[in-house]
Amino acid sequence: MEPDPKAGIQPGRSQSDVVCAKCHHLNPAAQRTCEQCGSRLYITCRNCGRRNQRVASRCAECGERLHRTAWRRWLSALGARRGKVTLLQVVTAILAAYVVYRIIVMLAEYSPPPPE
Ligand SMILES: [Zn+2]
Ligand SMILES: [Zn+2]
Repeated sequence: MEPDPKAGIQPGRSQSDVVCAKCHHLNPAAQRTCEQCGSRLYITCRNCGRRNQRVASRCAECGERLHRTAWRRWLSALGARRGKVTLLQVVTAILAAYVVYRIIVMLAEYSPPPPE
């Protein structure tokens, strides 16, 4: 038993129903959002702009990955490209952590003068 990459999509009736990626409710193709949970049923490919079903993991047109993992999203938020972290980014992160550490130490050491 191999896991089916197109789980939920039946080849014979591709245009008729759209499976919700979240709750697996079967929606009519005209629906843009799930009737049951309200989540979006389609996702647009970042590479070619083709509209794909959200349950698909890759674009039917160009094969681009449609869903990014949280790790990738976090990296791109840091400005990293293609999942690679440059040395400069590592140094910047360490420096930032050090500065935050210094501030915390400073605040911890600071004690207000006792009231008279
Ligand atoms: Zn749903
Ligand atoms: Zn595409």
